[in-house]
Amino acid sequence: MKRSLLIFVLPALALAGCTKIEEEDATLALPEVAAPDLSVETMKSITEELSSDAYEGRAPGTAGEEKATKLISAKFAEAGLEPGNGDSWFQDVPLVGITAKNMSPLTIRGGESDFSFDYGSDYVVASYQEQPKVEVTDSDMVFVGYGINAPERGWNDYADVDVKGKTVVILVNDPDFGTESLDGEFGGRAMTYYGRWTYKYEEAARQGAAAALIIHDTDPAAYGWNVVESSWTGEQFYAQSANGGADQTKLNGWIQKEAAAKIFAAAGEDLAAQMRAAKEKGFKAVDLKQKASVSLENDIKKTDSKNVIGVLKGKTRPDEYVIYTAHWDHLGHCKPAPDGDDICNGAIDNATGTAALVALAEAYVKAGAPDRSVIFLAVTAEESGLLGSKYYAENPIYPLSQTVGGVNMDAFAMAGPATNVVVVGKGKSELDAYLEAALKEDGRVAEAEPTPEKGFYYRSDHFSFAKLGVPMIYFEGGEDMVDGGREAGEAAAKDYTDNRYHGPKDEYDPNWDWTGVMGDLKVYYTVGRMMAMTEDWPNWNEGDEFRAIRDKSRAGS
Ligand SMILES: [Zn+2]
Repeated sequence: MKRSLLIFVLPALALAGCTKIEEEDATLALPEVAAPDLSVETMKSITEELSSDAYEGRAPGTAGEEKATKLISAKFAEAGLEPGNGDSWFQDVPLVGITAKNMSPLTIRGGESDFSFDYGSDYVVASYQEQPKVEVTDSDMVFVGYGINAPERGWNDYADVDVKGKTVVILVNDPDFGTESLDGEFGGRAMTYYGRWTYKYEEAARQGAAAALIIHDTDPAAYGWNVVESSWTGEQFYAQSANGGADQTKLNGWIQKEAAAKIFAAAGEDLAAQMRAAKEKGFKAVDLKQKASVSLENDIKKTDSKNVIGVLKGKTRPDEYVIYTAHWDHLGHCKPAPDGDDICNGAIDNATGTAALVALAEAYVKAGAPDRSVIFLAVTAEESGLLGSKYYAENPIYPLSQTVGGVNMDAFAMAGPATNVVVVGKGKSELDAYLEAALKEDGRVAEAEPTPEKGFYYRSDHFSFAKLGVPMIYFEGGEDMVDGGREAGEAAAKDYTDNRYHGPKDEYDPNWDWTGVMGDLKVYYTVGRMMAMTEDWPNWNEGDEFRAIRDKSRAGS
């Protein structure tokens, strides 16, 4: 059955008293989608299996990867998909894994007093360079504010300072973090890419710095020191590069705010005052008048990790593709909990999303192939900086210009059914209308993410595709619970962030209530199925940063 449901996308009238009504009413013809046959048993069993200790936290390049990718491909086959890469279920993703050892303390000399900071508790550092021994010795320290060089905004924290061979000290997030509204040089309260730590290191490397240390601060970073520590210790993965990371800084890392405050004080500076100064346009970098030394040794291992890919060929337009993505990897062995448990099992993050790929594949096959082809892509190394999705997007098996759009799933909320879903990047693309249509039957609503300052838009695999123009939607079950409202939802979310997220206690729980998850899964199904049945090519909204990239990509196809 294929009826057309006309959805009229009306101009936003949210501003009461606003008299200007835009002329253009876009109309989208969205196909109606029959209720899917989704298996809670599949969700439960695969989540439990992938997050069991036998998979050792699914770090790329480990025995846990071997088991996980084997399981996912077997389940794709059982569901009735075809291998997505010719005869193969896999796409090799060349990575280099670097494990640091023999880390020295971080010593600081030359100020009013000398300091020695401990690895792990005071600072963490890693090297992107494939060198067996890396050291920075007596390197001049410079505070470069937010470490942003944004010519299009007339902002350069590196203006008039030469940081070659020096150690730059950087604030996390961006200068208008902490404002109430979304207006401002850097998106107001919302984080821009300039606020992400990945950007800070990229820019420090472009400036020729020897080392880059970000001052940790829980609010603007959006997570506590425990998360920094668990994510930065143990093996770190990078994309293999021809020059072995020679264009990178020698060392990148984080330092606790208390330690940074001591360094500033020893230079006769006040950290809090400098943090305020860094928010102002025209901020000038500050010489911290001290020298940093730190060293470590690297165990270097080249490894081909794997994306797992299955496809359901479209019935009438098989060369047009809709893509579902979820990362299968997690952190592996990590900092032990007080009870000695050192496996970061990643049950919610993201065994649930991986299980969802299989449950969706089953439901798609049962419903019969849609008009367009559907790709199910379980990517590696998300936790190492979206490396698997980035690799696929840069080396696509199916052309991105022919990829209509997609849905990313990363960590299902386990707090029970919610009346809302939260969209990360709401307002960016026409896929919002698909989502609204999919929610309608169950009377649910789509809300914009409440905390754009946390930069979630840059923190999962949809971003790798968006960056290259493919419209992707990323949403999660919301926090307005059917039972207990927002109070209950916020408490559950806080419990997850404080006690489980990226720690050994993100474990499978046989007492979980899956009703909320299954409701969310239905929405993921419906949005993707609509994309796979329509003849439309949903685009980024006018003015969105990715629209021009998409238009160019489509024009070339
Ligand atoms: Zn995740």
